[in-house]
Amino acid sequence: MDIIQQVDRWARVAPQAVAHVSGQRQLTYGELRERSDALAAHLAQRLKNDFSPIAVLGHREPEMLIAFLGVVKSGRPYLPLDPLLPRRRLHRILNTARVQLVLTPAETAAFSGSRAELPLKALRNDDPFYILFTSGSTGEPKGVIITAGCLHHFLTWMLMEQQFIESGEIFLNQAPFSFDLSVMDLYCSLATGGTLFSIGRDLVANPKQLYLALSNSGLTTWVSTPSFAQLCLAERKFGQDMLPRLRRFLFCGETLARETAERLRQRFPTAQIWNTYGPTEATVACTSVQITDAILENYSALPVGRPMPGTAIFVTGEGDHARPVPLGTPGEIIIAGPNVSPGYLARPDLTARAFSEDNGQRAYCTGDRGRFSDGLLFFEGRMDHQIKFNGYRIELGDIEGNLRAISGIHDAIVLPVTKQGRTTSLAAFVVSDNGAECESASKRVDDLRQALGERLPAYMIPRRFIFLEAFPMTPNGKADRSRLTALL
Ligand code: AMP
Repeated sequence: MDIIQQVDRWARVAPQAVAHVSGQRQLTYGELRERSDALAAHLAQRLKNDFSPIAVLGHREPEMLIAFLGVVKSGRPYLPLDPLLPRRRLHRILNTARVQLVLTPAETAAFSGSRAELPLKALRNDDPFYILFTSGSTGEPKGVIITAGCLHHFLTWMLMEQQFIESGEIFLNQAPFSFDLSVMDLYCSLATGGTLFSIGRDLVANPKQLYLALSNSGLTTWVSTPSFAQLCLAERKFGQDMLPRLRRFLFCGETLARETAERLRQRFPTAQIWNTYGPTEATVACTSVQITDAILENYSALPVGRPMPGTAIFVTGEGDHARPVPLGTPGEIIIAGPNVSPGYLARPDLTARAFSEDNGQRAYCTGDRGRFSDGLLFFEGRMDHQIKFNGYRIELGDIEGNLRAISGIHDAIVLPVTKQGRTTSLAAFVVSDNGAECESASKRVDDLRQALGERLPAYMIPRRFIFLEAFPMTPNGKADRSRLTALL
């Protein structure tokens, strides 16, 4: 059964069961099926033979789920977009993806109101299911195509490994729908007849209300970045008493610090903690491991896990993708299997650089450095200038490219400011046409911040701007990032 058929089955057997809770709003499985059918019929009639992606713009509204399923039922992939993206970036994404239609929650509500019979077509493995845009190293975001087959492979593994209780789980949805971590909670929940419990930005910004909402949530499965759990740990009451039904934490997207895992073990003695790893290009996650006391005892840096069945993960020498290195030696992590994306939308150049074939399977060179030990994969950082900041994937080159595009900026280098290995903020070194200016030239910094804010989401705006006459150079004529790092 594909995911659409699974949701339809829940709509038949438990139409009143709640599929989604967001603030005061709820959506049942019956409504989700009826409204997504109606939307699909509307789209089929309206767009005829145009099968280009449909953008879905919104935050946590129940219409987001209706739109995702309705778009897929109409035979098109959906492209989730966050309304907080600056217009300029939004338009660039819409242009790259040749999007013909953008669905807002209001439009989805309007187009899904009438009843419609829809003959259900089974999904084919190669059908594009969704497209997620991530930061690109040259300043252009890139769209990762995920097919129905990729999603099916991921879900089959998750459901088998986690043994979720059918119609018995309540999943935390913390990641925005435009980030692939949300695919884990959304579709594990819908596949098992569970309830997706979304927490919006308003709650995260208001700790009192956040903890009140969590206390009333009945959550059984926590899905978030480690950063979010760490934020919650700052609240003393965040523990088993607040979430008595919680049985498992599922983490992905960035390093799970051993300290975070240890504190969660103390606060939630009966909940399991799982670390999972994977890039958007390989459908959310492809390795996993339960962080038991034995794992905590045996390893100082926590492993990211064992490969999912049916997918090969190996480590190769840097710069030479063909040759795996001996076990235990660090190198680049390569993922090959049905969960690997066919590539980036409308970017054959980028696709050719990162994707290849291995034993008849699609393979993706992650740019992650890693090593196998005791059958477990360990993540050891990046080989390029991609970073994770509060769970967000950021190419520093994306910020640099956008800085250089601002008039008066000659060159720019952006570096993460780190504390105990974690990025705490971003700093930009800027060579402007006016030469060096001191950091207190606050008007200049404000203007720069504003210009950048028109191009990039808020989490990508550097906190510090440092103006230089010129960048220090390495002997082979490249900007010397390590000397700039030392300046920080
Ligand atoms: P994204 O495409 O946003 O999911 O980001 C993927 C990248 O996040 C990977 O290539 C890794 O660099 C990093 N990542 C994902 N999961 C983990 C993990 N469990 N531990 C450390 N880094 C991770």
